[in-house]
Amino acid sequence: MADIALKPECPVGDGMSTVCNPYTGDVVGSVNTVDASAIDSIVARARKGRRSAQAMSRASRAAVLEGAARLLEQRAEFFALLIVNEAGKTITQARKETARAVNTLVLSAAEARRNSGEVVPFDAFPGSENRTGWFTREPLGIIAAITPFNDPLNLVAHKLGPAIAGGNSVILKPSELTPLSAFHLVEMLIEAGLPEEVVTVVNGNAELGAAIVTAREVRMVSFTGGFATGEAIARSAGLKKLAMDLGGNAAVVVMEDADLGTAVESCVSGAFWAAGQNCIGTQRILIAREVYEDFRDAFVARTKQLRVGDPTDERTEVGPMITAAAARTARAKVDTAIANGATLLCGNQPDGSLYAPTVLEGVPADCSIWQEEAFAPVVCLQPFDSFDDALQHANEVDFSLHAGIFTGSLDRALSAAQLLEASGVMINDSSDYRLDAMPFGGFKHGSMGREGVRFAYEEMTQPKVVCINQKDGVR
Ligand code: NAD
Repeated sequence: MADIALKPECPVGDGMSTVCNPYTGDVVGSVNTVDASAIDSIVARARKGRRSAQAMSRASRAAVLEGAARLLEQRAEFFALLIVNEAGKTITQARKETARAVNTLVLSAAEARRNSGEVVPFDAFPGSENRTGWFTREPLGIIAAITPFNDPLNLVAHKLGPAIAGGNSVILKPSELTPLSAFHLVEMLIEAGLPEEVVTVVNGNAELGAAIVTAREVRMVSFTGGFATGEAIARSAGLKKLAMDLGGNAAVVVMEDADLGTAVESCVSGAFWAAGQNCIGTQRILIAREVYEDFRDAFVARTKQLRVGDPTDERTEVGPMITAAAARTARAKVDTAIANGATLLCGNQPDGSLYAPTVLEGVPADCSIWQEEAFAPVVCLQPFDSFDDALQHANEVDFSLHAGIFTGSLDRALSAAQLLEASGVMINDSSDYRLDAMPFGGFKHGSMGREGVRFAYEEMTQPKVVCINQKDGVR
């Protein structure tokens, strides 16, 4: 992959670190790495960027975002290969992520033009009849964007797009495992006309991340990543706005009246997409006892057909995990569940960073693989005897993002939409569905704020009221 052995330059940095392909182990690029001691120069650059961003008209912010979207579309295959090489996604999944990132930038441009504020109906209230006015949406200032490894392009676009649309400057720290897509996205925004100081992208470890989130001038931390990191950030950030997009542990309910063929196909994809490294991946499937055996047998048969291996091969359906250590961790959690009484139906064979899609049944509810996010290609099947039972099992965990239900009954679907504790309930779909324009975020422990371009834009801007006291008002 010589054509992707790139050396993105960081504006502040003191040494190069390499990025490795999770499947081959080959070096795919190197990035200038920054130490936490560089925080003052990082913030100084972002301060300059704040002034430049605030000087940009809505038209110029939108033009930059649209220009970057066009460039990304033209270079889609380059970016897809970059995602395969640094994150190990299959080429098919990487192409989908790239197409979504184009859409995220286009949506951000539209938001820059559209969401400028509202008229306030002052005269609707007695005593304010002579007043008229509006509120505008103003930038917060400097936003820290901290991103994870698993969607190294689109999750970065979900932070940069709305932040730039809102007139902010950004300090971006992508995952040190997958920084290349982020650096190239920033380069493309600059090529599209963004003043280069508006985004300060830095590569580094947790200490660097901690220095960024604690910097006093940072007005908001927009974080996507794991619970432990989110909690560490919340403890140290101080007085600033926090957006916490954390993990999930999605349940999908399969009722006795579901179309089982659709449910099996959709749940296999939901469980094993991106090798299970997906915050809305399906982790627990609750199945009506009447159809349990039929569903289980079809699900396991389909899982065994999945082609696991080389992510550059167009036919591969499940690529590697991010590291061999991640595959070993998944195996240890599954072994613990088996030791506690769960039955292994297939999988649980690590081979370097590959980990065979794994299906368990009868997992005790106190096992970590049931209670916590697995973030691995592992799914637990469980029969239930009543709809109430299904809801109770679905909701008995602390962590939640999306959930799903398969049923032919509208009544059941609507009850599930009401009663499943999730921020998105997918009806006749697995939990793994997201549109980049819809509100997206966690529902339970630790989650704060919403992404989805319009919603992130609103989180990243603040209203400012202008009110005119019209002395000679007509009323
Ligand atoms: P992680 O929490 O290990 O790392 C995320 C980022 O935080 C990285 O850039 C890392 O360097 C940085 N970081 C680590 N310690 C820090 C600290 N003390 N202060 C500041 N920054 C710090 O997450 P990961 O393993 O890269 O990603 C997987 C997790 O992300 C999963 O839990 C997954 O569910 C979650 N995720 C959530 C969403 C969502 O939208 N809700 C989307 C994708 C992934």
